[in-house]
Amino acid sequence: MSDAKVLLEVNNLIKHYPVRRGLFGRVSGQVHAVDGVTFSVAPGETLGLVGESGCGKSTTGKAVLKLVEPTGGSINWRGTRIDGLSAAEMRPFRRELQAVFQDPYSSLNPRKSIAAIIALPLRVHGIAGEREKVSEMMELVGLPARLADSYPGQLSGGQRQRVAIARALIMRPEIVICDEPTSALDVSVQSQILNLLQRLRRELGLTYIFISHNLAVVEHIATRVAVMYLGRIVEEAETATLFAAPRHPYTRALLASVLTPDPALGIPDTGLGIAFPNPLDPPPGCRFHPRCGEALPRCSTQAPRRRAVERSTVECHLYEESAP
Ligand code: ADP
Ligand code: MG
Repeated sequence: MSDAKVLLEVNNLIKHYPVRRGLFGRVSGQVHAVDGVTFSVAPGETLGLVGESGCGKSTTGKAVLKLVEPTGGSINWRGTRIDGLSAAEMRPFRRELQAVFQDPYSSLNPRKSIAAIIALPLRVHGIAGEREKVSEMMELVGLPARLADSYPGQLSGGQRQRVAIARALIMRPEIVICDEPTSALDVSVQSQILNLLQRLRRELGLTYIFISHNLAVVEHIATRVAVMYLGRIVEEAETATLFAAPRHPYTRALLASVLTPDPALGIPDTGLGIAFPNPLDPPPGCRFHPRCGEALPRCSTQAPRRRAVERSTVECHLYEESAP
């Protein structure tokens, strides 16, 4: 399918990480981090990828950024299949896909000045006009010009994240993959950064994939939401639809967890009991069945297929024609 309205198309993406044990590093298993993920992103939208820690959100983002090599599936960027491209073949597209990660401290070189950090992508690509571009970008993300010669250690967490955003945007990308960009920040600073990202999207015509374990954050920023569970997208819908009429029992449990006292504090308490299942050995059938209050007999043996339910798509046996 090559649709001009689609920027990014991810089809049946699979990423298994080999697990090595012992002195000689023999492979003793595979972590099924991403196991058949399909989605597409249209220009101007913000696709929220949400789910508990360990469900494969970051791995999905890293595969799109080509920071990890997929085990299977395909990734199409503006009609070109990029998953198999070499670094050299990828060069023309590099500028177009940028990222902002959770921890602005570890991703910023502590020995470089703020101006040098923001300018680095320009240097790598041999683009002129560094000084003007950097000061323009600092202004755009709300960093005072006097910070240009400061170092990351002298900045607050929120300012450091603004630096990371400026560095990502200086190449004028088409899409920015934001992986938990506010999760390490104080609650009061989180909303400032979210509002900044919203404004930049409008002003620069950006497209986002916004990864978060926090549904409240995703509800605020995403135009469409994909809910991940153990390496798969189990439900996808426009944001308003997903929050008004969640279909998958897992989505409902996640939404209930948003109502717990402090959703900003890390991993949501989903009220689902027991530990997250082992991605080394995912359950057969529907991966969610061991934790599902509504599981049918077939859920433990047959994997459900993705289907349209009104304006959502859901991977759940409850929505089959023949379901009771
Ligand atoms: P999320 O971002 O949703 O928290 P990740 O994509 O980081 O999830 O991880 C998905 C699963 O893959 C987890 O079980 C995690 O431990 C595992 N994983 C992630 N990166 C690696 C790696 N480099 N090597 C082995 N396992 C990994
Ligand atoms: Mg992650």
